[in-house]
Amino acid sequence: MRDRLSFRYLEPVFFAGLFDDPLLLVQIRPLGKSCLFDCGQIHHLAKRVLKGVTALFISHAHMDHFMGIDTFIRHNHVAPKTIDIFGPPGLAHKLASKLAGYDWNLTEPYWCSFRVHEVQADRIADYLLPGPEGFTCRFEGDRPRRDKHIYGNDYLQVEAELCDHKIPMLIFRVSERPAFLLDEAKIERAGLVRGGWLRDLKKLFHQGALARGPLAVMRSSGLGSIEEVVEDVTALYETIRRDLIPASIGYVTDLGFTEENLAKVGSLMAGVTLLVCECSFLAADREKARNSHHLCTADLIYLVERLRPKYVLPVHASKSYLGKGRLLYGELEMPAGVTLIRLPERLTPRPLLACEVPKLGETVSYNAEENLEYGRSKP
Ligand SMILES: [Zn+2]
Repeated sequence: MRDRLSFRYLEPVFFAGLFDDPLLLVQIRPLGKSCLFDCGQIHHLAKRVLKGVTALFISHAHMDHFMGIDTFIRHNHVAPKTIDIFGPPGLAHKLASKLAGYDWNLTEPYWCSFRVHEVQADRIADYLLPGPEGFTCRFEGDRPRRDKHIYGNDYLQVEAELCDHKIPMLIFRVSERPAFLLDEAKIERAGLVRGGWLRDLKKLFHQGALARGPLAVMRSSGLGSIEEVVEDVTALYETIRRDLIPASIGYVTDLGFTEENLAKVGSLMAGVTLLVCECSFLAADREKARNSHHLCTADLIYLVERLRPKYVLPVHASKSYLGKGRLLYGELEMPAGVTLIRLPERLTPRPLLACEVPKLGETVSYNAEENLEYGRSKP
């Protein structure tokens, strides 16, 4: 997953193993920043990684997707910034309750604030939890939601859909912003001549100002090239741009295999480049999947056959299969043109047992290579 797959600006990094609580980091290379999807097993991420997260997206607040938020807060709360957190209805109260579990009598005026955006079907409700005030939760207001878009910057946009997991949960699609790309053959067919106007057109594109127009272009004529003023610059760009569907990532976990959910996944995730999808159970345990509103291997294959992503990353397998990851992968036969990406069962070493650490009374010293050396203390 550390190669670029088909991405221009984005680099997805899945920070968990097949059986770990899920955690998808999407790095935005030109910005040196990232977006984080879910807060599962997070303790092994470097502080530098977590400090670079500008927006956090929570699918739902089951413990295995949300408990890592404490680590996230710990690494960010004394930095002067506001972090956007998107999640299903009720998330602001849950975050406020978590934060209220600590004492905040030593806050400073420059501390971080969290702005929680609760995504509902027809609106987004915004809440502010200001660090300088000890993270008390304040309702800021409702915004109507006219489409699936919930977040964006110069390099990506995030869309979301509310699905059912016996509680409301969100699925997310992260798409790269279209790049400024020109088709030489189309420029020629349109009778245009390359020149400084293309630089101006690119500038307008990056400013999101194509509609501002007009633009003086160079057109070929029998006498050479002549200047011509084009009023509709948006249409001009549409005529000469290269057709390229922006690469995208779908993040789907956890949801029930219901008709309504499938219609929503089908509509939001169609044509997605990389599908990161929960696959909790083996096909034989379909009933367990149905009872808990999760997916099994047969469900994932059903989705892949309809969505036809270029890459599929199954995640969040049930810990009851620990040590049997090969059984899950064995059932995930992908259709032609779809590449299955495999994860290690666990990304980090398993937790320590008491017999694996030095006994109390033993000394611990560090050598020059920073390797641990244990020696019994002298009496
Ligand atoms: Zn869940």
